[in-house]
Amino acid sequence: MSTAEPILLTPGPLTTSSRTRQAMMVDWGSWDDRFNQLTASLCEQLLTIINGGDSHHCVPLQGSGTFAVEAAIGTLVPRDGKVLVLINGAYGKRLAKICEVLGRSFSTFETAEDEPTTAADVDRLLRADTSITHVALIHCETSTGILNPLAEIAHVIEQHGKRLIIDAMSSFGALPIDARDVPFDALIAASGKCLEGVPGMGFVFARKEALANAAGNSHSLAMDLFDQHTYMAKTGQWRFTPPTHVVAALHEALLQYNEEGGLPARYQRYANNCQVLLDDMAKLGLRSFLPAAIQAPIIVTFHAPKDPRYQFKEFYERVKAKGFILYPGKLTQVETFRVGSIGHLNQAEMRAAVAAVAEVLREMEVLDI
Ligand SMILES: *Cc1c(COP(=O)(O)O)cnc(C)c1O
Repeated sequence: MSTAEPILLTPGPLTTSSRTRQAMMVDWGSWDDRFNQLTASLCEQLLTIINGGDSHHCVPLQGSGTFAVEAAIGTLVPRDGKVLVLINGAYGKRLAKICEVLGRSFSTFETAEDEPTTAADVDRLLRADTSITHVALIHCETSTGILNPLAEIAHVIEQHGKRLIIDAMSSFGALPIDARDVPFDALIAASGKCLEGVPGMGFVFARKEALANAAGNSHSLAMDLFDQHTYMAKTGQWRFTPPTHVVAALHEALLQYNEEGGLPARYQRYANNCQVLLDDMAKLGLRSFLPAAIQAPIIVTFHAPKDPRYQFKEFYERVKAKGFILYPGKLTQVETFRVGSIGHLNQAEMRAAVAAVAEVLREMEVLDI
């Protein structure tokens, strides 16, 4: 086990393959035709994953995932629009914060961190406030790993004639989403999560008509997806300096995604990783925060041991010394820690990670789990 290159059990940045990292060893010029072909091929392949080629454009954007979320809200919600934000964790709260900062009118509906939003909730909320134009939802809320029922909620929103914006950052590529069945105006994801690229760019699947009607909505020059798309459609180039190495790495990661068997294979590998993680941690007495029915196979939140000898910082450092990077908990009420099951990993790595956790708990003499 090499400590020089620890295995990241985090939901992005995550462990990538050496082939993906190797693809970054080339310097591309942004005017280079071959680079522009790389971008075009990337967007086309991304659209294929959601069967969105007829209905949606793929608009890539420089930056982390949040940049793309902010750009989608700023571009697609008109300045006199109103967003209903569905919250059951930190990323949902971030959506509301974005609306607040952008000066978009919004209301929030919050459920407990272990309680999915339901289609019935959304139906009731849309009946009660007809001034709502858009609903914003986190598909897999990464702060716990909870899965919200996207398809049911999307259909209710469509019945009300409203628009849906989905933050599918930690689910896209692993959990199935079909644009032919699930109506949405925007779905947002990024390079460094389930596609197993490196971090540095996001992308927004924007419904073609919605994007065409979005000229002038954005508060920002750099975050305007209408402009970004228009320029790219005309020139084949990114509007401002592209993250060339990130694009090349993601392109290479997508080749491997397809070789592996695409979404069904990626889903199965993550589901297997997650099951091994849950089973082996349970043998140590470590309980997961969420019930299995609402647990996405992306990241698992575990209750921290009750023993006063347990301290997350020391636990983290000791597990890291054995070659694995864990993730702190993100809950306010209960003490937890998180372990991701995504990235270029399989069941062998998950087993080894839990074995490292077991050794560390012994070293720390943590008995009361
Ligand atoms: C990772 C993630 C984001 C984006 O976070 P960044 O730190 O900006 O990359 C947004 N939403 C969800 C649900 C995520 O998992």
